[in-house]
Amino acid sequence: MNLKICWMYHDLMDLYGDKGNIQVLKIRAQKRNIECIVDTCSLKEEKDLSAYDLLFIGGGADKEQSLLVEDLLSRKENIRKAMDEGSFILLICGGYQLFGQYYLDGDGNKIEGLGFFDYYTESASRDVRCIGNIAIEVDVEGEKFKAVGFENHGGQTKNVSTPFGRVLSGQGNSFGCGFEGFYNGSVLGTYMHGPLLPKNPQIADLILRKALKKRYGDVELEQLDDTLENKARDVMLTRILKD
Ligand code: GLN
Repeated sequence: MNLKICWMYHDLMDLYGDKGNIQVLKIRAQKRNIECIVDTCSLKEEKDLSAYDLLFIGGGADKEQSLLVEDLLSRKENIRKAMDEGSFILLICGGYQLFGQYYLDGDGNKIEGLGFFDYYTESASRDVRCIGNIAIEVDVEGEKFKAVGFENHGGQTKNVSTPFGRVLSGQGNSFGCGFEGFYNGSVLGTYMHGPLLPKNPQIADLILRKALKKRYGDVELEQLDDTLENKARDVMLTRILKD
């Protein structure tokens, strides 16, 4: 069995250790004897994204988002094909924003999104951002668990039909809205850096199962020893929830 991941815009979109998400997916796959192939795809590179089981885009500043958007929009039909054929998509922060209708950046520039989903993002004023640790409760695919991360975004994402989690502490999609991210079963968009996956192994395995499904159907993943990962998350949870 193997897993093919494409990390899009790896040289532009990598904030707060987002690349750690790739490392975690790789190691958790390898521990189950699943070979993990990681390719990258940046500006102007010809690549068939539908050949991958998992597409990943990390977070980035407004400048990087406007730099890559033309290239991203040129891949719209190819990304749609990937989704139609069952590829899973993980999007962090700036990447998450670009799959919606548009992103109005901190300077008031409108960056057109891929428009796959109804949500849209508008920046609060230049000097107001959602910054800090965040804890959420996730209830998806019959699993209920808490997850932790770190957010830093000016963009306020509205009109999210199916959020990923309920905010326990922090902001999430927009100031005080109570909900975090977007999840529709095949696309997970979230504001949680940290990076997301090292302290949230349930999310890592959810993504692995979903990505493997494209070519292998329902795969039973062998349970790993997550003692350290769970401890790391619980330390943060205790710290965040007592504030
Ligand atoms: N530039 C976007 C914002 O400020 C996304 C930031 C990020 O990816 N952390 O909202």
